[in-house]
Amino acid sequence: MITLRTKSPDDTRALAAEMAPLSGPGDIVVLAGDLGAGKTVFAQGFGKGLGVAEPITSPTFTLVRAYEAPVPLLHLDVYRLDHLQELIDLGLAELLDSGRVALIEWGDLVTPALPADFLEVRLEMVEADDERLLRIRSVGAEWSSRLTAIHRAVERWTVEC
Ligand code: ADP
Ligand code: MG
Repeated sequence: MITLRTKSPDDTRALAAEMAPLSGPGDIVVLAGDLGAGKTVFAQGFGKGLGVAEPITSPTFTLVRAYEAPVPLLHLDVYRLDHLQELIDLGLAELLDSGRVALIEWGDLVTPALPADFLEVRLEMVEADDERLLRIRSVGAEWSSRLTAIHRAVERWTVEC
């Protein structure tokens, strides 16, 4: 587990942009954390890091948005889904198989419908309004070997604890 601290929305975007180049087609990043924790802000920075030129907006109502870039991005928000079945009906398996990096807001609520390997980024609000703690962990073997490289990329945000 890697623990990081950011001091502003732009700081979170900068951190996410550093992580993005370490991901590739087919990768899944689950964004966990309460409403307003910064999942969409993280996605904005991550998309920029992938080379997405257009503005990234919350997919809360559309459920899924796709962005073109050298490594294209799929951005999902599954908060409004009532049943796992809706995610399956949406064609999640095919979407994830589309050669994109997938960021899934609230993905921690639907892990039974997800592949076994993903990176989880959990954002937590703290006392200071503009600060966030980010806890990064790998689920499944695929990402665990890449944690060291990720850690190196985001070293300047590391919190000792
Ligand atoms: P979520 O998608 O998790 O519901 P959003 O990313 O839409 O949350 O919103 C996060 C809110 O928190 C934004 O209003 C943003 O400006 C604010 N914020 C304050 N500090 C931070 C920070 N360090 N990182 C990310 N967002 C922050
Ligand atoms: Mg959001």
